[in-house]
Amino acid sequence: MDDKKPVLYLVLPCYNESETIEYSSGKVRDKLNRLIEMGTISPFSKAMFVDDGSKDDTLSKLHELSASDPMFAVVALSSNRGHQNAIMAGMMVAKDHADIVVTIDADLQQDIEALDEFIARFREGNDVVYGIRNDRKSDGPLKKMTASCFYGLMHMMGADIMTNHADYRLMSKKALEMLSEYEETNLFLRGLIPTMGFNSDVVYFDVKEREYGRSKYTARKMLSLAFDGITSMSIRPLQIISLIGFIIFLISIALGIFTLVEYFKGNNIPGYTTSIFVSLLMGGVTLVSLGVMGEYIGKIYMETKHRPRYMIDSVVIKGTENEEK
Ligand code: UDP
Ligand code: MG
Repeated sequence: MDDKKPVLYLVLPCYNESETIEYSSGKVRDKLNRLIEMGTISPFSKAMFVDDGSKDDTLSKLHELSASDPMFAVVALSSNRGHQNAIMAGMMVAKDHADIVVTIDADLQQDIEALDEFIARFREGNDVVYGIRNDRKSDGPLKKMTASCFYGLMHMMGADIMTNHADYRLMSKKALEMLSEYEETNLFLRGLIPTMGFNSDVVYFDVKEREYGRSKYTARKMLSLAFDGITSMSIRPLQIISLIGFIIFLISIALGIFTLVEYFKGNNIPGYTTSIFVSLLMGGVTLVSLGVMGEYIGKIYMETKHRPRYMIDSVVIKGTENEEK
């Protein structure tokens, strides 16, 4: 790394974050200004908010913000495409202006003070730096439980993701250019980025409670992230189905032989319970298997359409390095 100060773009996805913006933008501005003063990053660095089709006045607040200070850039998506797509949109716009991009949640639950360390790891030659949370003190019992089920399930299903890494992450321009080549519609960045094989390191940080507004990750969104994570990273569920099918096949041979023997011995078994049990079990197994296969077929269907992951409605970036040149 030469001693040119890197241009940092902080990407913050926002979905109905009206209550948080004032607080977060203030903290972000302070932090970026301090980093600029210290000479750690270029004065052309920016905080880029991505409005993920919010239904409240998030977007107009963001536009006010960028009108008042060129440090703030705004990317507006035309509809709600979810956290992963919002981050992707922000990173793809940012990579054309920045040397490094860091994604962080707009509620700033993730500790923004860790930025210095992210940049230090980048200067040491890492193209990707993952933020790993220290503990889960600030989470409620439900979130704790769902999180540990999530990571447990992911590992069991063969998707090797980093435990306790959410999407607080630094990526260099080079890594982002590479990421832009991935065209999958079902985006699961946490699983995808480690497979790219860039030099990487980790930074540990503390997670705080949300100061303003409520969590935008509904149970449904969380479940769909977990599903996407598993089905986009691994085909193990399909293999498990085959295994179950095979085991049931073996059991049915044994059962078949047993019934035949009993029949020829002249024993009339009153097998009502058994047959009800077997048919219910088989019905259940068949339906679950169909469902899992359906998930994958659905994924294939969505991928074959090659639809864009997000639609950008507008981009506001003021005072970039290229303009000044
Ligand atoms: N988010 C988003 N689109 C969505 C849901 C969430 O851009 O459809 C953003 C949200 O505004 C926040 C980040 O993703 O900046 C993380 O969401 P949240 O803080 O609600 O999740 P939690 O911290 O509770 O897991
Ligand atoms: Mg949050």
